[in-house]
Formats: sequence, C-alpha cells, structure tokens
Amino acid sequence: MGKAPDVRHIARCACGEVELEMIGIPIVSVVCHCDDCQTGFLQLETLPGATPILDAACGTPCVLYRNDRVTCTKGAELLEGRKIRERSATSRLVATCCNSAMLMRLDDIRHWTPVYRDRFVGDALALEMRINTQFKPEGIALPADMASHPSIPLRFIARLISARIAMTLAYSAASSPSPCLRPMSTAGCSG
Ligand SMILES: [Zn+2]
Ligand SMILES: [Zn+2]
Repeated sequence: MGKAPDVRHIARCACGEVELEMIGIPIVSVVCHCDDCQTGFLQLETLPGATPILDAACGTPCVLYRNDRVTCTKGAELLEGRKIRERSATSRLVATCCNSAMLMRLDDIRHWTPVYRDRFVGDALALEMRINTQFKPEGIALPADMASHPSIPLRFIARLISARIAMTLAYSAASSPSPCLRPMSTAGCSG
C-alpha cells in the first residue's frame, strides 16, 4: 500500500472566505443517498445564493476523513451548523458568507468527518461508491457510474474501522497516551 502522508486537499466556499484543509488520503469517497442527507442538503440548497448540492439521483458526494485530518484554516467563524431535527447528532455546516455547504459534523463518538466534495479545489477525488440507495426517490434512475449499495456495505465499515485503529495508534505513539491504553483500575468490580 502506498503511503502519501503529505497529500493535502483544500475545500473552499464559493466566495473564498472559508477554507478547509484535509491532510492525507481520505477514508473513502461516497455518494450518500440516505433520507437525512436528502432532507438536510435540500434545506441548504434553498438558502439564498446556494448552489445545487444533490446530484441527479438525489445523492450527496462526500469525502470522508479522520476527524484529526480536517482543519478549518480560514473563516471558521463563518461556519454555521444546521440540523434537520433539534436533537439530531448530525450538523451540516454551511459557510454563511455565500451559503456554500462545506462539511458535516457527526456525533462526538464518530471519528470521521464528511466533507462536501463539490467544494474541493483542483483535482477532484474519485468517488468510489453510492451508499444507502434504498432511499433514492422512486422514478429516478441510478447512474451506473460506480458501485452502488442499498445500505452501508461492509467495505465501507471496514474502512472506517481501519481508520479508527490508525488514529488510535497515531495517538498512542505520540507523547500522551490515549486514556484507553491506561492500565485498568485496581479497584474491584463492585457487581
Ligand atoms: Zn463564502
Ligand atoms: Zn447520508
């Protein structure tokens, strides 16, 4: 497997006030057709000046990175999270300067960050698969441009798991050990 730790990608809002920097190779690049993405991104499309987000088959192209590989390098104060339900753990972040959809922030326990692919500058990263296609509206044809899966395929889950392991190893090799690696407490189990 080739290693390219210094690969960097930039994602920029339409007006250029907000910039994200992604380091390294992404976990996976997908088009998500889930109902939440359809609802959430359709809402962002209706914001003044926003550009279309969903593709012709109502999917959202996203590039997933480890949380520690995505940094907002410019205009972080302009990013605003939108939720489709008040108690939802998922926010879709929009650059309020021009209403460009930028990225998603998931529940704290998740270790990956989806970045909206159409905002990438320069060479577009190849998309690998369509996921959650069971939610695609009826009557809309699915393009045969890549592998498609009705739900979340094992291949996708495997990539997320290996990213989690890589992230844990990276932090355990660093000066401060992960709390997960601390020895067990000597206190007996009360149960
Ligand atoms: Zn902008
Ligand atoms: Zn989705």
